Amino acid sequence: LENTDAVAAVVKLCREHGLFLIPQGGNTGLVLGSSSTEPASVILSLERLNSVGPIDPVGKTVRVESGVVLDQLQSALADLNLTLPLHLGSGGSAQIGGLISTNAGGCHAFRHGMMADQVLGLEVVLPDGKIWNGNRALIKDNAGYALRRLFCGAEGSLGVVTSATLRLIHKPADLQTMLLACDSVSDALSILSLCESAAGSLLNAAEFIDRVGLELLKRHQPHVQQALDDIPNVALLIELASPSNLVPLGPIVESILESAMDQSLASDGVIANNEQQRQTMWTLRESIPEGQRLHGAQLKHDIAIPVASLAEFLEKATQAVLTVLPTALVNPFGHLADGNVHFNLSAPAGQDESLIKNQQALNSAVYDTVVQFEGSIAAEHGLGRSKVRLADSSRSVIERTLMKSIKRSIDPDGRMNPDVILAATDAVPNQRD
Ligand SMILES: Cc1cc2nc3c(=O)[nH]c(=O)nc-3n(C[C@H](O)[C@H](O)[C@H](O)COP(=O)(O)OP(=O)(O)OC[C@H]3O[C@@H](n4cnc5c(N)ncnc54)[C@H](O)[C@@H]3O)c2cc1C
Repeated sequence: LENTDAVAAVVKLCREHGLFLIPQGGNTGLVLGSSSTEPASVILSLERLNSVGPIDPVGKTVRVESGVVLDQLQSALADLNLTLPLHLGSGGSAQIGGLISTNAGGCHAFRHGMMADQVLGLEVVLPDGKIWNGNRALIKDNAGYALRRLFCGAEGSLGVVTSATLRLIHKPADLQTMLLACDSVSDALSILSLCESAAGSLLNAAEFIDRVGLELLKRHQPHVQQALDDIPNVALLIELASPSNLVPLGPIVESILESAMDQSLASDGVIANNEQQRQTMWTLRESIPEGQRLHGAQLKHDIAIPVASLAEFLEKATQAVLTVLPTALVNPFGHLADGNVHFNLSAPAGQDESLIKNQQALNSAVYDTVVQFEGSIAAEHGLGRSKVRLADSSRSVIERTLMKSIKRSIDPDGRMNPDVILAATDAVPNQRD
């Protein structure tokens, strides 16, 4: 499909024929939101809605169609010294419509917000085939409900996003990146505090990786450089970004490293001297999921915990997992500064069966601990079909009722991507609670 009218025509056709409609972006969502086993459904690919522009370098906004891939957008913006402050490992495939519909997070969310915070306006084909043009480019717009927000993170359950107006920033003039070796996540959190007091809003990323992930990577992708001499208990990637050459970062990053070593919070540390060394550090971080995938079966948990409780949570959740399966390999990694952890589990080589057999008990061990710490069971990947029942069961009655009424008022027939956000039966009108 090449334009919004064509999308609207397909939505109307599906409605007339009683078919379910599942929008699909880059299909990188990891939670089964953009595929379906339901026979009466149409999967709608947005990949041909792929134009970028106009770009407004004064207001720092861009109009972009939903099938544009994130890296494609970043390349188009780079010539104008602009960027969308969103960075994730799937940037080569994930599309703007998918990023909006999952409200993607990534490495800079603690600094710039999530995808919804970059969305100033949207165009959406609604479940009845009507086109809502809300493609405004205003930062301040209090004229009623912020309708665009409803579609951010809706996972295609309320309509098809066809284009958006996004807020941009200038590309950083200076980037300084370093990798530190820590004994524990507690020490990594203390380094995070050092960074916040030394660099404030110049802190651009704080990513942690557990020893288990580094060892799996060394085993299955030995060509990926580890950057530090020895594998530490916890590796911490810190990046600062400055908008201006008048605010040089070199002295700040050096003083953070010095303080971390003086206070025995880090036993080793290396500052990237050039772009290639910087890329080596990011490649290490971004190869962790692939290293684990190559090892065999895995159970993934994309969760968020209040930052101050992170170290305690990791200890308790690991204990809970090992009580169920003492041989489990616990591989937590992720975005330290906003408490978003990918708490992923594997089994020792050749023992995948043990992980699969205990899947339910292991998931409960993790999610029960998340609930105890007042965290989120779905931090940045959304619910898709894999977590929808878990989410439904953990919502309060008021939350569930509000969500149901939103779904029913916009999609009364429950035809738009059923079984995400709310379990499918809940989308049927007049059903009893
Ligand atoms: C290696 C890797 C690293 C990742 N890292 C991160 C990370 O750091 N942070 C993060 O947040 N996520 C991450 N993800 C998850 C994923 O990339 C994001 O969820 C992304 O936003 C999905 O975009 P997509 O285009 O692939 O959407 P899809 O997977 O195709 O779809 C996702 C959902 O959005 C809906 N949808 C898609 N397009 C539209 C549209 N135009 N209109 C309405 N609904 C639509 C689909 O129906 C589905 O429910 C990662 C994934 C991988 C594979």
